[in-house]
Amino acid sequence: MENSKQMRSWLDDMKLDHPLVIAGPCSAETEEQVLRIAHELKDTDVNYYRAGIWKPRTRPGNFEGVGALGLKWLQKVKEETGLKTTTEVANAAHVKLALEYDIDMLWIGARSTVSPFIMQEIADALEGTDKTVLVKNPVNPDLSLWLGGIERLHTAGIKNLGAIHRGFSTYEKTKYRNIPEWQLAIEFQNRFPDLPLICDPSHITGKRDMIFDVSQTALDLNFDGLMIETHFDPDNAWSDAAQQVTPTVLKQIMRDLKIRKETDQQIDYNNELNNLRAQIDVIDNQLITSLGKRMKISDSIGALKKERNVAVLQSNRWNEILGKMILEGEEKGLSEEFVLRMFKAIHQESINHQEKVLKA
Ligand code: PEP
Ligand code: MN
Repeated sequence: MENSKQMRSWLDDMKLDHPLVIAGPCSAETEEQVLRIAHELKDTDVNYYRAGIWKPRTRPGNFEGVGALGLKWLQKVKEETGLKTTTEVANAAHVKLALEYDIDMLWIGARSTVSPFIMQEIADALEGTDKTVLVKNPVNPDLSLWLGGIERLHTAGIKNLGAIHRGFSTYEKTKYRNIPEWQLAIEFQNRFPDLPLICDPSHITGKRDMIFDVSQTALDLNFDGLMIETHFDPDNAWSDAAQQVTPTVLKQIMRDLKIRKETDQQIDYNNELNNLRAQIDVIDNQLITSLGKRMKISDSIGALKKERNVAVLQSNRWNEILGKMILEGEEKGLSEEFVLRMFKAIHQESINHQEKVLKA
């Protein structure tokens, strides 16, 4: 994707003075619901109105979308409010219908990006059109799979492309519905700086009260826009009730977000600094999470030693770790003195943990 500059021209052409905003319900439920939300989002910073027509549900038996009927409602949204529209497509038949009903932008969901067959089917169906297409990351944290999907569209001649970061599935319980793995999004930007990258804090968090924070982090990491699920009665939404916000809350979020504008040098400097600091915050969080995990393993070792009546400290093992880490550290530009101090502190904490288990 060498000519990636082309890919962002659709966004540059919009000449926005704020990040791109896509908002609207998780699912189109009824014509009244679709139109009411759209009218409440009219005359705001919202650029595209989203609504899922075909819903990929993890388990069968849940609301699976109203289907093609909803496309008419989206046309009405455009007529009545002037908002551009976008919906998810997951196969060639969806693409055909969405083109027929003149949906302005299409997005490909996380469960479709994982499948090269589906991506190819969609790319073939779009060949020769000038649609803007956004590709959500696959459910698993695989950068190549994500880029591969985008590449298939690019090869089919789709020029107006972008990506949506919606977080990744994990077996571990975390405070997120889908963990953001910001490192991966940062790597994505490094590889394709000209491909617009939109954050979907709704599917990352799964909870409406975390949406502001995740949106701010995304903007600090130079994301180009946000996709936020919005419903006038979130609690009674037919899908993703816990993560949708009302139009009023969305407007407040948009007012409160610190949006960095590029004009003078002073602002450039602050942008750069905020960006670097946001990256450091992400890494610091990872450090604390990793250390927490390490100590949990220490607890298990403590329990094992207790069971077998073995002493907490095994000097050989400890010296081996230290030697290895000093060498690793050297390779990464860390001084021996720092590595020693850090590992002594970690080791001490580990011993404290094990001792607590042995004494319990
Ligand atoms: C959605 O946007 O409503 C959706 C189904 O998202 P995802 O593909 O990210 O799960
Ligand atoms: Mn949803």
